[in-house]
Amino acid sequence: MQPLQGPGGRAAAAARAGGHSGVHASGHAGHHERHHGRAAGCAGLPHLPGQHLPSGSEAGPRADPESPRSPRLHELAPQSADGEDSGGFQMVSLVSLSEVTEEGVRFRSPYDGEETLLSPERSVEIQNALGSDIIMQLDDVVSSTVTGPRVEEAMFRSIRWLDRCIAAHRRPDQQNLFAIIQGGLDAHLRTTCLEEMTKRDVPGFAIGGLSGGESKNQFWRMVALSTARLPRDKPRYLMGVGYATDLVVCVALGCDMFDCVFPTRTARFGSALVPTGNLQLKKKQYEKDFRPIDPECACPTCQTHSRAFLHALLHSDNTAALHHLTVHNIAYQLQLMSAVRASIVEKRFPDFVRQFMGTMYGDPTLCPTWATEALASVGITLA
Ligand SMILES: [Zn+2]
Repeated sequence: MQPLQGPGGRAAAAARAGGHSGVHASGHAGHHERHHGRAAGCAGLPHLPGQHLPSGSEAGPRADPESPRSPRLHELAPQSADGEDSGGFQMVSLVSLSEVTEEGVRFRSPYDGEETLLSPERSVEIQNALGSDIIMQLDDVVSSTVTGPRVEEAMFRSIRWLDRCIAAHRRPDQQNLFAIIQGGLDAHLRTTCLEEMTKRDVPGFAIGGLSGGESKNQFWRMVALSTARLPRDKPRYLMGVGYATDLVVCVALGCDMFDCVFPTRTARFGSALVPTGNLQLKKKQYEKDFRPIDPECACPTCQTHSRAFLHALLHSDNTAALHHLTVHNIAYQLQLMSAVRASIVEKRFPDFVRQFMGTMYGDPTLCPTWATEALASVGITLA
């Protein structure tokens, strides 16, 4: 396992257990070193600036000017070369197969129909056995578009389940248990959850229950509300965010780590991520385009194949083509977060944001209203 980052941190993309990709932007050093007492700021990862995790998420530099140093996860066991998380258990996507009670989540196996109980204790037991650097509490997740008493019930239950996960955790010196903030889109409920969960001495916090179909305006306000109340010296992991614009804006709002299926899923639809958006390589316009997906990209796909080749491959050996696009899209995310991290370390993050938005939207002032407002809330203007 690896410590999760020092200033000059890393950025990473990773496939979680559920096929997600996690990227990280952290880098300020809150000197979180309670487990092994290593000085913050020296470790980082030995290889790529954008580190690929086998199945996880991580932390990089924080854009927050008041937190010039990087949050640091404690050191993790030496047996794996990369940081990783377990992926946790994302029960919201299984909701049609499952029933949530105080005991846990009871669900039917999609394979043989057998009923299984996943309790907070069992969830931690499995993740302890997996040995990942980061393990996630079992939470009671409701879709962000759900309203009413169920949101409150799920939030309070997630707090109770956090306590059960903490009690069940057998390897706190080796594995970092993250709490997951819930509360839907209700500022009062989310604040209550933040107040309660931050009383617990867990090594990191995830912001959960967002990116589920709510408006971007609601989304960023809930992110900002959360980061404002999370401890400054511990990593903040925003779950389910993967669009490049969202990553950049949420780093500005104070998030360090992300994970999302987006880069890999969109690759499987034939979409290649580029600084100006994406290329739909199946389109005829790429039939005779012999440039790489992105001339600036150092990934194996861009070093080896042209858009025309990938276009032809998409129309013949589709699986191989999707593999090449997946490699590129992961590399894109890594390079993006690496650039974000470098700009924070070099204290030019606002300029980076303006340049990024200018490239993505043609002009920084053309970036979406919600993003402009979110950035303005932390003093970054695009004009
Ligand atoms: Zn590439």
